Amino acid sequence: MRIYSHPACLGHEPGATHAERPQRLQAVTQALQAAFPGLPWLEAPRASRGQLLRVHDDALLALVLDTAVDGPMPLDPDTVLGPGSAEAALRAAGAGVAAVDDVLAGRARRVFCAVRPPGHHATGSVAMGFCLFNSIAVAAAHACDRHGLARVAVIDFDVHHGNGTQAIFETDPRVMYLSSHQLPLYPDSGFRDERGVGNIVNAPLPPGTGSDGFRDAWRQQLLPALDGFRPQLLLVSAGFDAHRLDPLAQLELEADDYRWLTVELLAIAHRHAQGRIVSMLEGGYDLDALRECAVAHVGALLAQTAGHAP
Ligand SMILES: [Zn+2]
Repeated sequence: MRIYSHPACLGHEPGATHAERPQRLQAVTQALQAAFPGLPWLEAPRASRGQLLRVHDDALLALVLDTAVDGPMPLDPDTVLGPGSAEAALRAAGAGVAAVDDVLAGRARRVFCAVRPPGHHATGSVAMGFCLFNSIAVAAAHACDRHGLARVAVIDFDVHHGNGTQAIFETDPRVMYLSSHQLPLYPDSGFRDERGVGNIVNAPLPPGTGSDGFRDAWRQQLLPALDGFRPQLLLVSAGFDAHRLDPLAQLELEADDYRWLTVELLAIAHRHAQGRIVSMLEGGYDLDALRECAVAHVGALLAQTAGHAP
């Protein structure tokens, strides 16, 4: 097990009052280093243009990478491009690519990417919802195109629907996208009848759902679909904004729900994917909840490493 991160991910500054602030990553980093002092931390490389172009178009690359900005420039009401944003987005996407290379080369079974900005709302052509590049999609496309995998699963438990990830893969049967999320809530997609080519599985949950309803949705719908897909690699969009303290949503989860789900995902990873899981930080906007949930999630990934080293 190893962790990828990069100091440049702190340099994306959407503004002092923005929920998606550098302090989020500082909180996650400090909590994980305190809880798991032996874990190796590696510096994320930059994603290459070729890796990004597997899922994004030239115009989005030009906007994020080539726009000269000397202060925060809004791309939409939620999404800001600043002087440090391009480097942060390149390192966030590059972390996922390096993590995929590591697990497929056997250098690690599990990797967590402590990065920002988040990615799952970014479509092939549009940066939105705090997201510039869709890092988890870049990682999935890399696993398919570079490593030739035929079945890659993206598991998204962020409280928001990953509309970008779904849009990128909804006609690509090599990738299954599975998501639990609150509806109604931004971006108001992720209904049950959005099925792609049979590779999209959405479990929308109403506000106030809580732990029991969340676990039921995974137990009854999402985990059986994932198991049936027999993924060769599990990628996780790990957003922790479904926690009861989060200011942006009302799904009312506890940190233990993330531990529980992670253990369930590990069982499926061991059954079909040689235990290979790459998890990437997405949302989570209460710093205390973020610390507690990240430790619960990474702790579960790490605990299960025993007996299945490295
Ligand atoms: Zn979110």
